[in-house]
Amino acid sequence: MTETYDVAIVGAGIIGLAHALAAAKRNKRVVVIERDPRADGASIRNFGFITVTGQERGESWRLARATRDIWAEIAPLAGIALEQKGLILTLRRPEAMAVAEAFLATEMGEGCECLGAVEFRNRYGRIAAPGARGALVSPHEVRVESRTALPLLAAWLAAAHGVTFMTETAVHAVAPPRLETSRGTVHAAAAIVCPGADFVTLFGDRIAAHRPQKCRLSMLRLASPGFRLPAPVMSDLSLVRYAGYAALPEATALRQRLETEQATHLANGVHLIVVQSADGSLVVGDSHHYGDLPPPFAPAEAEACILDEFFRATGLPPPPVTERWVGTYPSAPDRTFFIDAPSQDVRLVMVTSGTGASTGFGIAERTIADLFGPATGAPE
Ligand SMILES: Cc1cc2nc3c(=O)[nH]c(=O)nc-3n(C[C@H](O)[C@H](O)[C@H](O)COP(=O)(O)OP(=O)(O)OC[C@H]3O[C@@H](n4cnc5c(N)ncnc54)[C@H](O)[C@@H]3O)c2cc1C
Repeated sequence: MTETYDVAIVGAGIIGLAHALAAAKRNKRVVVIERDPRADGASIRNFGFITVTGQERGESWRLARATRDIWAEIAPLAGIALEQKGLILTLRRPEAMAVAEAFLATEMGEGCECLGAVEFRNRYGRIAAPGARGALVSPHEVRVESRTALPLLAAWLAAAHGVTFMTETAVHAVAPPRLETSRGTVHAAAAIVCPGADFVTLFGDRIAAHRPQKCRLSMLRLASPGFRLPAPVMSDLSLVRYAGYAALPEATALRQRLETEQATHLANGVHLIVVQSADGSLVVGDSHHYGDLPPPFAPAEAEACILDEFFRATGLPPPPVTERWVGTYPSAPDRTFFIDAPSQDVRLVMVTSGTGASTGFGIAERTIADLFGPATGAPE
């Protein structure tokens, strides 16, 4: 513990690793401190879907574009495969078509297109349900297999950027130049705390001021349907959940109709994301239950709703379930993330909207600029 670092990062989830990358790019000496043997939280339980289209208009949407570009740049360097590209959001109701068309008319629709029923069937017939009216198609997304991408990213940060990892080490006090850990004192000039859904161990009072809750999600892996999906798939329900669509005035009519036709889905916070892995299997979700500690007992009703929406959106009978898991992320009522400054040399970063894989690299660039000043373009 005699080594002195420029910056210590608490947490080896995607937000911690994104900050390690942004700091290392500034030639900072970085240590990442993680209490588990390896990342085990939301960052390896997610879809790995780096979503641009549908992110909240403005800042989140811009951060997602920046983050997607960084994933595309570093993935080949770190040996991470981009498993899928783009998005096909299937549309079953006229109200959903109206939301998609309104979305296309915004700056966020750049590069996207809205297909009618015939064109959708001609291009993507294998995933067009009988009642499909069309689809919103985006080229902007990429997808990684998070459970393997996170370890690969950490290994690359260590090998290519000299980042030190201290695992199985819990941090219980942060006051640079000292961090007190379960393995003794770590010396670092600055610290960035990226604790995921741990609201109490570090800076609990500062976190409480942002009023986060925990959101628990149910996830499934299904056996391969026997063919490659042309892109990740979403559906009508996503248009009232993702803020980039849901905030459009046209979403009100869709929500009203869904409240009548799919009330149980909405009550379980269910919408559909289907992504595909290299072996053909599908990661499918998800539901959303909120509280100070939502139960870890994934409700069968939510799973039934997810599989029902899979069938309605794609017309495919769901292949057998091969895995089930839950994941938890922080959720705040009025912000998608925050960067707090408990002191001049400490930043506390939390993504409070379930979008950390999609916005984390962009957020990290911002934190590092805040902590160390704007990048000059010249090596420091
Ligand atoms: C089921 C699910 C699906 C999702 N799908 C997507 C998706 O497809 N796309 C997307 O963009 N986002 C998605 N999200 C959201 C995304 O996964 C999260 O926003 C992101 O992973 C948060 O990353 P994090 O690093 O903040 O948290 P975490 O991954 O939870 O990591 C925090 C780490 O900090 C460590 N830690 C905390 N306190 C301490 C301490 N005191 N000392 C040492 N270590 C500490 C923890 O052990 C943990 O490893 C999903 C989330 C879930 C749960």
